[in-house]
Amino acid sequence: MDVHRLAERLRGEIGHANVLTDRAQLRTYECDGLAVYKVMPAIVALPETAEQVQVVVRACGEARVPFVARGSGTGLSGGALPHADGVLIVTSKLRSILDLDPDNERAVLEPGVVNLDVTRAAAPYGYYYAPDPSSQQICSIGGNVAENSGGAHCLKYGFTTNHVTGVQLVCADGEIVELGGKAPDPPGYDLLGAFVGSEGTLGIATEVTVRLMRAPESVRTLLAAFGSTDDAGAAVSAIIGAGVIPAAIEMMDALAIEAAEAAVQCNYPKGAGAVLIVELDGPASEVEAQFEQVEAHCRTAGAFEIRIAADDAERALFWKGRKSAFAAVGRISPDYIVQDGVIPRTALPTVLRRMGELAAEHGIRVANVFHAGDGNLHPLVLFDDAVEGEAEKAEELSGAILDLCIEHGGSITGEHGVGMDKAKHMPRMYTDDDLDTMQLLRCAFDPDHLSNPGKIFPTPRLCGEVPGRHRGAHPLQVQGLAEVF
Ligand SMILES: Cc1cc2nc3c(=O)[nH]c(=O)nc-3n(C[C@H](O)[C@H](O)[C@H](O)COP(=O)(O)OP(=O)(O)OC[C@H]3O[C@@H](n4cnc5c(N)ncnc54)[C@H](O)[C@@H]3O)c2cc1C
Repeated sequence: MDVHRLAERLRGEIGHANVLTDRAQLRTYECDGLAVYKVMPAIVALPETAEQVQVVVRACGEARVPFVARGSGTGLSGGALPHADGVLIVTSKLRSILDLDPDNERAVLEPGVVNLDVTRAAAPYGYYYAPDPSSQQICSIGGNVAENSGGAHCLKYGFTTNHVTGVQLVCADGEIVELGGKAPDPPGYDLLGAFVGSEGTLGIATEVTVRLMRAPESVRTLLAAFGSTDDAGAAVSAIIGAGVIPAAIEMMDALAIEAAEAAVQCNYPKGAGAVLIVELDGPASEVEAQFEQVEAHCRTAGAFEIRIAADDAERALFWKGRKSAFAAVGRISPDYIVQDGVIPRTALPTVLRRMGELAAEHGIRVANVFHAGDGNLHPLVLFDDAVEGEAEKAEELSGAILDLCIEHGGSITGEHGVGMDKAKHMPRMYTDDDLDTMQLLRCAFDPDHLSNPGKIFPTPRLCGEVPGRHRGAHPLQVQGLAEVF
């Protein structure tokens, strides 16, 4: 590729200030939230409109240059890791709320809009945007869509995919396509469903239509301290088994609590082996009745202290410890891996116990902080890169934890995506034929494999990519069920 020529063309089309090639400026974009992987892009483009995104993608297509979308760069799986010979298309200048429509419970957003800004804009009308990743103060809606992001309140309200009703995207050939809109459930194949969670491999979202929800009449939050994660896990099972679906149930173990205390002095009960934060929301009378049930289940499961948030300030303090937990482990360990796996909720005690054994076998500490209600684990694997061999042991343990999740009927990612980091783990969950079938869908959107190549899939086999096991036609082609184009 002639980078210089492509950069000049882009400067002519989207403006000089919106195209970066200076190495010092490019360095800002060399990684996302998973900083162990770093790649300097050849060009960074900062389009200001959907049409400018289209212009950049079209130019990439014509020059056969790969491109990668980037929102706020908080992803934890290396999804926005640039391509060394490619263009990184950053959506941070696309931050307008195009249409706030509380009457239809919808908002139409540019992809760079920050998650929390949607709720801030909707709040005066009594509405909010439900999916709330812990990074919500900074992550973008485009990134949320690409990762199908979750958050503490997704237990009751569902993940991003349940809140997106429409996407406008620029396909790899530069065509602008609309999937869905303000109305729910259009006929035909659920291509919108396929796009949500596609991690930038099916094109770039340039507009996103989301559902707005009525703010609940009442919100009540408690913090319960237990002697062990087993006891806290038993409380979670009892609460949900009783038919109560809290807005959120989050668990932190002793090591995660220690880190949070060191970082933000959240003042959780002393001596806890685990804490649960349980939040209920809805009509006041329902919340009142269910809150008593939750308290009773926590006590029966062995909670030795229960604190009930008296006001918004105290609720915020409960959440402060939880929401700062990832960064907080930096206080107790020089290096760490944020792992993300999911298991059926009932497997929690077994998996946590086995994880403890694996950690001991590897001589590595693991702090646990997770969305306990939906079994989404975030083990934080602590190590010191300065100690020879520790990084390798931590990496091995991290992989063993994913195997454990799969063994218990779970998955290699609950919400952070596959990206670059977990592509190698995909064959542990899927057969070659499964992966090839996914590639067929990808090729329908991006036959030349230019949109975020090298992510999700371990070894691309179709679209004229590196040949692998299926050197001839794909089995689905042979059966006349699919074609490669
Ligand atoms: C402290 C911390 C806490 C976190 N907590 C959570 C959590 O609770 N739940 C959760 O799910 N995640 C969490 N995350 C992970 C991360 O914030 C989410 O994955 C988020 O959705 C990423 O958004 P972003 O704008 O930063 O995307 P980026 O990191 O910029 O990109 C992520 C992926 O989206 C693609 N992409 C970005 N924009 C577009 C677009 N317009 N069109 C197509 N593809 C696009 C990129 O190519 C990449 O593959 C956390 C991260 C941090 C650092």
